[in-house]
Amino acid sequence: MATAIAGHTFELFINNQFVKPASEEYTDILNPATNEVIAKVAAAGIHDADLAVDAARQALGGKWAGLTPARRARILNKIASLIAERLDTLAETEVRNAGKTIAGAKAEIGQVIEDFEFYAGAVTKIAGATLPVPPNFFAYTLKEPVGVCAQIIPWNYPLLMAAWKVAPALAAGCTVVLKPASPTPLTALMLGQICAEAGCPPGVVNVLPGPGAVIGAHLAGHPGVDKIAFTGETATGRTIMEIASATIKRVTLELGGKSPSIVFEDADLEAAAAGSCHAIFYNAGQSCDARSRILVQESIADAFRKTFIRKTQALKVGDPLDPATHVGAIISRRQLEKIEGYVGIGRQEGAVVACGGTRPQDPALAKGNFLMPTVLDQVTPTMRVAQEEIFGPVVVLMTFKDEREAIELANATQYGLAASVWTKDGARAQRVAAALKSGGIAINSAYSIFPGLPFGGYKQSGFGRELAMQTLDLYTETKGVVAYTGTKPINPFAV
Ligand code: NDP
Repeated sequence: MATAIAGHTFELFINNQFVKPASEEYTDILNPATNEVIAKVAAAGIHDADLAVDAARQALGGKWAGLTPARRARILNKIASLIAERLDTLAETEVRNAGKTIAGAKAEIGQVIEDFEFYAGAVTKIAGATLPVPPNFFAYTLKEPVGVCAQIIPWNYPLLMAAWKVAPALAAGCTVVLKPASPTPLTALMLGQICAEAGCPPGVVNVLPGPGAVIGAHLAGHPGVDKIAFTGETATGRTIMEIASATIKRVTLELGGKSPSIVFEDADLEAAAAGSCHAIFYNAGQSCDARSRILVQESIADAFRKTFIRKTQALKVGDPLDPATHVGAIISRRQLEKIEGYVGIGRQEGAVVACGGTRPQDPALAKGNFLMPTVLDQVTPTMRVAQEEIFGPVVVLMTFKDEREAIELANATQYGLAASVWTKDGARAQRVAAALKSGGIAINSAYSIFPGLPFGGYKQSGFGRELAMQTLDLYTETKGVVAYTGTKPINPFAV
């Protein structure tokens, strides 16, 4: 395999150095498209996690704290330019490690670059305020880095999720222990090295692959960690919140979703079908904001169904490195079986598999984890497939009568991450956007993610916002300072 990662062994990244884990244990990293081992990666244990937290704590009070904001901004820009220089290697690594398509990986790394550039621009805008207090007092706020941030990320967007976490933390002057998901640690480790090359002093960015239930949980309870930022399953978020409560850590959680595409009868049918298709099947449906429920108005349901299924069946499932592939591999055999299990549950509940539901026929794909894009029709709102996050290339179709019912259905899950609204009626689009209990709304678009636009959840999709200026509030503490400026001493007790 002619690639930058072939047969490579990756160590932990602590204090700007690759170091062996105390246990000397290594994990095989698989290519989801073939299930072949592509690399070995060190598995951190508790001792290594403690070393990484110590490194991050030391760095917090060291040279890093003394850098001017302008210098910190230059480091973030340098990280962006090093990623751009290595785009091809990073994209290929991401494809081989996560099973995502090469076109998708390149687009995502393009966004990784923009995220670092966005936060490079933000560094010099982090500022406190002067405040209206009574005469003879002068008050202002200071914005200070929140401290050591443990950042725990999932496997569906390995480098993008790392960027969403690391960039604002560095912009705010924090230090980081980044815990990538066990199946996909490679590009996160490469990012650690890039941060060092760009000028981050030792200890500022540490990357710690290892089992989440062990070191993720340890970091969540570690007294040397000030903040936990997590993306992943809602159940894991709940556990992290519980553990972090013992030390009252700052916590932000970006969790699961069951996001809707809502298609009204006046929508441009072709655009709505194409957009809804992309919004679920991109990254083989393994996106927290995947629009995994399509709610379509009864009057156009037949026409929409036909168009949508035609577009779904035209998607090419195949070798993720082939630029013509639309739908790549599922992360693991276990996840594939979990998704297939949901297709079975849907059938038992009375849903009809309108297309897909099987593995592809192509023998070249048999060793990998692939599933044909699947449409479950005649789904009703209380079915498990309409309520639970399947996290694969499976979408459910449901119908509604009018705007009121569309909103009711859209809001009728525990989640509230994203939604798309398809209509030509501008006023209706605004009304529906306002009524949805969801952190992000896309009107006539599948896309709702751009640097600068807050991303995050309502309800059990989590809390905190990423990708935006307000994210910096979650990586800073605000200190209120007040000074007496009067000429006579204050003597309230008159003694
Ligand atoms: P998890 O939520 O378990 O994993 C996300 C991250 O959390 C990983 O880095 C993981 O490490 C870590 N982690 C796991 N357990 C703990 C813990 N107790 N304390 C601290 N950190 C922990 O998701 P999975 O990868 O297990 O996937 C399970 C399901 O979650 C999937 O089937 C999918 O449905 C959903 N999912 C949703 C995502 C989303 O963005 N909404 C993202 C990923 C998955 P490690 O990898 O070592 O276990």
